[in-house]
Amino acid sequence: MDFELTEEQKMLQTMTRNFAQDELEPIADELDQKNEFPHQNFKRMAELGLTGMIIPTEYGGSGSDHLSLAIAVEEISKACASTGDVLSAHLVICSYTINIFGNEEQKKKYLPPLAKGEKVGSFAVTEPEAGSDISRIQTTAVRDGDDYILNGQKVFITNGDVCDVVVVFAGIPELAPRGMTAFIVEKGMPGFTKGKKFDKVGMRAGSTAELLFDDCRVPAANRLSEEGRGMKIALGSLDYGRIHVAAQGLGIAQAALEKSVAYSKERVQFGAPICQNQAIAWKLADMATEIEAARLLVYKAAYLADHGQSFGKNAAMAKLYATELAMRSAHQGIQIFGGYGYMMDSPMQRYFRDAKLTEIYEGTSEIQRLVISRAVLG
Ligand SMILES: Cc1cc2nc3c(=O)[nH]c(=O)nc-3n(C[C@H](O)[C@H](O)[C@H](O)COP(=O)(O)OP(=O)(O)OC[C@H]3O[C@@H](n4cnc5c(N)ncnc54)[C@H](O)[C@@H]3O)c2cc1C
Repeated sequence: MDFELTEEQKMLQTMTRNFAQDELEPIADELDQKNEFPHQNFKRMAELGLTGMIIPTEYGGSGSDHLSLAIAVEEISKACASTGDVLSAHLVICSYTINIFGNEEQKKKYLPPLAKGEKVGSFAVTEPEAGSDISRIQTTAVRDGDDYILNGQKVFITNGDVCDVVVVFAGIPELAPRGMTAFIVEKGMPGFTKGKKFDKVGMRAGSTAELLFDDCRVPAANRLSEEGRGMKIALGSLDYGRIHVAAQGLGIAQAALEKSVAYSKERVQFGAPICQNQAIAWKLADMATEIEAARLLVYKAAYLADHGQSFGKNAAMAKLYATELAMRSAHQGIQIFGGYGYMMDSPMQRYFRDAKLTEIYEGTSEIQRLVISRAVLG
């Protein structure tokens, strides 16, 4: 078994690590306070080719492997998890879905501007009555000549207030209960508007909004794949997305460890740095060990995706473990920082708030356990 990254993957890791440390981390707290889409970070990711990773070169991307993307998301999330979240929604679940399920015309039209970061992508399945159970979506799509007419409301959509292209899931009533179908909807299509923006606990340097469809006319040419294949598409994309939410959690956990190590060496109490207390040193040992385990889970899931093998169970395991680890690491990090860790100018509070979301979106921890237990029980 080869645990070495390739030369290309190492170069990508160094590049994203430097970019994240030099450009993202210094402004992460400021952007966190704004609760807005981080336009400058997105523009820089586009310039560095990060918004087009995993998209084939013929559609304007860099055609990189899935493990490279997981590495990039980890490095970015270590510095600013919200920016990792923005990239994931844009590339991992929007562009990826179009690339896997779109036809040639759709890929040629939509992927190049998404890959180059000229357009921002979103993925919209969640609704007020349909969260974990996406089969309950109420948004409808009714055929009208060469178009479909969409009506409904999507909530909690990452990049929602700024998106130019969104993969939307709606049910075709006459095919119910198996009518879920995916569509590519563009900003400016009649009847498509952005609703309220949500005020979040964490990941505040990204934006989350409602999307509204009021007799929204979408050309039939924008239907992704066949009518009734929406559930398969949504679950396939979310399975894949979990690898990169896991990578976000991994980045947050690694950041919490590094900051905790540095602080525990500097902070002196009872005449010695606090890291000389076994109680503190062992917290660091546990964090480091679990991070190593989480990284192996994330890399394994990405490796399976790269080798065309089934990765759903592994992606769920990676997401479950890495995101719960992000919470544990931020929790222990605050403890290591003591009272300073509880202050809003400490890095730990942001990790703590950001980590919580990773346990919720793209399938909660409970849903990951459901997926894994079903695979285990057969
Ligand atoms: C900030 C943010 C950004 C998001 N971005 C997007 C996005 O870009 N696109 C998108 O489509 N969606 C997005 N979501 C939606 C997200 O995926 C859902 O919030 C998530 O899947 C959970 O759904 P819910 O919030 O309705 O909770 P519910 O499904 O109502 O769950 C509530 C609780 O019940 C538990 N539960 C539910 N069913 C079961 C079960 N069968 N067994 C055990 N426990 C269960 C859950 O684990 C949870 O603890 C986002 C959410 C947030 C908060």
